[in-house]
Amino acid sequence: MSAIEKVAELATEAALVSSSASVLGWDQETYLPEEAHGWRARQLAWLSGRSHELSTSPALRDALEAALDEVDPSDQRSFGNLTEMKRRFERSTKLPAALVEKDSKLSSHAKHAWSEARKKSDFKLFAPHLQALLDLSREKAELWGYPDEAYDALIETYERGATTASISQVFDALGPDLRLIAAAAVERTALNPVALPDGPYPIEQQMAFNEEVARSFGFDFNKGRIDTTAHPFCTTLGPGDVRLTTRYDEGDFTSSLLGVMHEAGHGLYEQGLRSADFGTPAGDSVSLGIHESQSRLWENHVGRSRGFWEEWFPIAADHFPQLRKTDLDRFLAFIHRAEFSFIRVEADEATYDLHILLRFELERQLMRGDLKVADVPTAWNEAFTESFGVTPPDDAHGCLQDIHWAMGGLGYFPTYTIGNLNAAQLFKAAMQVDSISKGVSSADYSPLLKWLRKEIHDPGATLEPSELIRNASGREPSADAHLQHLRQRYTE
Ligand code: ZN
Repeated sequence: MSAIEKVAELATEAALVSSSASVLGWDQETYLPEEAHGWRARQLAWLSGRSHELSTSPALRDALEAALDEVDPSDQRSFGNLTEMKRRFERSTKLPAALVEKDSKLSSHAKHAWSEARKKSDFKLFAPHLQALLDLSREKAELWGYPDEAYDALIETYERGATTASISQVFDALGPDLRLIAAAAVERTALNPVALPDGPYPIEQQMAFNEEVARSFGFDFNKGRIDTTAHPFCTTLGPGDVRLTTRYDEGDFTSSLLGVMHEAGHGLYEQGLRSADFGTPAGDSVSLGIHESQSRLWENHVGRSRGFWEEWFPIAADHFPQLRKTDLDRFLAFIHRAEFSFIRVEADEATYDLHILLRFELERQLMRGDLKVADVPTAWNEAFTESFGVTPPDDAHGCLQDIHWAMGGLGYFPTYTIGNLNAAQLFKAAMQVDSISKGVSSADYSPLLKWLRKEIHDPGATLEPSELIRNASGREPSADAHLQHLRQRYTE
């Protein structure tokens, strides 16, 4: 057996364990009976320990080193696969096991405290936990190392190759114009309030319509399915097994539909990765900012477009006859309504990124020590008021609304906006191709999916996110295409 084959064998073994944990995790979120949670938590903890052992084993280190000697560096795919595997290996072995354990305990306590604090809207209950997680994040950053500032090391966890400075540069270019666009969009909606015709929109009809749309995007139901959960998500349980979830509102069918479009975008990416490479970077997604670009592209650029609804509105009306009481223009005004919401997950496309810019700035200040944990609520409310013109009524609608910090996920938030920027830049580049733009305007999405497969899905994690964007669009990642898209849709 060659060293490269040995690496593949060890990676497969680790993937068998971690994907088994994914199956149990999916079941936990969907169908697990109440009294089964205790044992399930033990199963997951045990598997996660096994998986960590296998993916940080000396055997894997030796095989990786031998394989890197063996590989031909001009074979970009194999070389990129092995170097990325080595980078991941080093990152996970730089943290001592005791620290990993401490991390998992801290965040499990923090999640509990956060949930209580949010319920009572009392930041003081969460503050000591945030302080502990922040200290631990600094400790991890020192062990991982970073080019410039400790926050870089946290960002690298979710967005390989990105730094605080590179993100800042793009976000700074985004901020001022975004504020103007968001304000104009909110004003436009306030002047022309719109509503959907009254429900009910029966759930069985929503399911049928959602499935039809997901199928038309290219989601393969022989390699995946859609289930129901309180919080929509997408997870991969193995090659050929991608699970999406959504939730239903009988008063508004667009809520589950847009959720399915979003998760189907994630799912198409996962289904487009090479099955044969499952468990190695070549068969794995590259970053959250690329993952989110796929969901936002299908949800916002395809699914919220006029072209989409010119084709699909009559079909929707077959499922939901009350839509005949409205027309395409009024329906689009409903899909494109904008308002300032205190809550990020309820935000619309026009105002969403303002929520992220705020979090990025605060996290950065926290990591630098320029902002004290105790001052987070005040800083949050001041920044929010400056961006949105309204002040959160309490911390539950302010700095306590998201679970990310409690999970130890500092550095995660920026990837949502990176995803939006990537989506716009990719979609703009794709639409330059004649067959793609013709297809998109006649509900034939296969040319678009084929292009995404080639440019984004097929390389897996063998290239850096910024290289994928550069190769696909011929430009450096920037905020230009996103601003242009928002301006067109929300101000013209
Ligand atoms: Zn997403």
